[in-house]
Amino acid sequence: MARRKLLFGNWKMNKTIAESKAFAEESKKLLAFAKEKGVDIGVAPVYLSLAAVKEVNPELTVAAENCHFEDHGAFTGEIAIPMLKEIGIDWVIIGHSERRTYFAETNETCNKKLLALQAAGMTPIYCVGETLAEYEAGKTKEVVKEQVLKGLKGLSKEYMEQVVIAYEPVWSIGTGKNASKEIAQDICGFIRELVRGEFGDVADKVRILYGGSVKPENVHDYLLQKDVDGALVGGASLKVESFKQLIENI
Ligand code: PEP
Repeated sequence: MARRKLLFGNWKMNKTIAESKAFAEESKKLLAFAKEKGVDIGVAPVYLSLAAVKEVNPELTVAAENCHFEDHGAFTGEIAIPMLKEIGIDWVIIGHSERRTYFAETNETCNKKLLALQAAGMTPIYCVGETLAEYEAGKTKEVVKEQVLKGLKGLSKEYMEQVVIAYEPVWSIGTGKNASKEIAQDICGFIRELVRGEFGDVADKVRILYGGSVKPENVHDYLLQKDVDGALVGGASLKVESFKQLIENI
């Protein structure tokens, strides 16, 4: 069965609750449009807005941008998986490069979070990707391999079916410097073969997204690649009109 295309907006630390609710209201039309086009869509607002977005549009897939791997405890400022579940959130972005760079996220902590999400039956978008220095040193595949193998360690084949992986070269996030469609295909294909090596043919069901300065003007080129099943989009996902154009141009 063909993998369904997925367009996911990562709002990062943007939008107040009121702004998020306004988008959620508009997202009813977006969702209907995406259904017509056969594309799955979702957004990842800040923790504070999650419940509000779900309340305004319960049909929309909504992800948290992070979570802790413990269910509760002395972790000031963190949010636990059961707390997300309680408000109807069942998707979480794990290991975004901004979490890795600014908040000391490692492949090991990502792995703990992914195992906890597996236990909770929730869907992760697991982000991997090399920095500019690693890219320039020709280490992309070495870095991505370690992130994929260490991050996904111990997950079951059955669970892998619902895991989404996002390849986001750090040098292309928010910089306007896109990776070429050839690079996106090369690394997304590489990731699929890594998954196949560890988990077998479930690899053909895993959705692999490209992320990094995706815009309405370039989304189509990426989505034409055989191993690119969608996009994780930051800046261009913040405005309803731009999100609509992304769907349209897929
Ligand atoms: C992201 O935040 O994951 C991202 C890819 O951002 P942008 O689209 O703004 O580069």
